[in-house]
Amino acid sequence: MARYSIDDIRFGIGRFPRVELIARPTALRKLERLTEALQGPEIYIKRDDLTGLAFGGNKSRKLEFIIRDALDKGCDTLITWGSLQSNWCLQLAAAATKYGIKPVLVLFRSYDLPPGYDGNMLLERILGAEMRIMEPPVRGKVVKLEDTVALMNEIAREERGKGRKPYIVPVGGSLVAGDMDKPLGAVSYVEAFAEMLGQTRALGFVPDAVVHATGSGGTQAGLLVGAEALTDACRVVGISVSDDKDTFAGFVAEIAGAVHRVMDLGPMPSRKDIIVFDDYMKDGYGKVNQEVANVLRFVFAKEGIILDPVYTSKAMIGLIDLVRKGYFKAGEKVVFFHTGGTPALFPNRDKLIEFLEP
Ligand SMILES: *Cc1c(COP(=O)(O)O)cnc(C)c1O
Repeated sequence: MARYSIDDIRFGIGRFPRVELIARPTALRKLERLTEALQGPEIYIKRDDLTGLAFGGNKSRKLEFIIRDALDKGCDTLITWGSLQSNWCLQLAAAATKYGIKPVLVLFRSYDLPPGYDGNMLLERILGAEMRIMEPPVRGKVVKLEDTVALMNEIAREERGKGRKPYIVPVGGSLVAGDMDKPLGAVSYVEAFAEMLGQTRALGFVPDAVVHATGSGGTQAGLLVGAEALTDACRVVGISVSDDKDTFAGFVAEIAGAVHRVMDLGPMPSRKDIIVFDDYMKDGYGKVNQEVANVLRFVFAKEGIILDPVYTSKAMIGLIDLVRKGYFKAGEKVVFFHTGGTPALFPNRDKLIEFLEP
């Protein structure tokens, strides 16, 4: 049973201080031609790519709370990390700079893109963000959060030595680590769920499912807490872009637990409610393939909407496949969250051209 009203959630979120970075609500529209082409559920899109900060994306919502937290803690430098073409790093740099905070971006060479200033890196360069390109710290084969935080602590010490007051934010903005003592990024997605539900109710329905790309688990954790608090049966379906579903279910459970602790929303979502599909990342994080090229063209041609090659294309490949397999059925209503990321199209041009028929 839905346990809260949208107003309850708004009130709860209102207790977290924030700065204002985005134009809300972001648009919600029916994808008429995509729905018609797939002959399955009615498909809607929530345009969180149109937040209005830099090129937009899900990180803008998260940063409203994180920037405020850094300012309230008297910090003048934000240190974070991501892959070379990280959307998170660009969004953080844009938000920080706007509020007079110096961004220090640690960009890990995590997948093979041609080096050089393009996409998000070009935008970071235009902005004047400090960029440190490094090899990721590796223990065995996986990068451990504590190893990365240890590296960030070294950078923070350097910054302190220069008289600055640094604040370390984990990639994705929801993990409670570094200087973040609350899962602020995920909290913003509880609010995003409430915002979306207000829009669908105005159109006369509650969605049967929302679908989105999952990367660090924060967006999914927030949406899931929102869905459990506000609806009876709306499923939150995360499409993994990088790891297997059990790894993700672990991240989502951890972050959702942290959201529950700070928002006091009663019983936790149970592990069985965490739905992650790991069938669509194929060759791994950020790898462009034929299906990515096809879906970019298909959605652009049907709807005039541009997806990104790393996240939203994989999520849309998943959505379309799940419609074909009957996981989503005719008569259901599904909301696809467009979480941004379009600057990464350009550094991937060579791969895309290889797969796109003229
Ligand atoms: C970061 C990102 C995601 C994933 O969000 P998480 O909260 O980290 O899971 C999805 N789409 C885009 C475009 C992103 O940049």
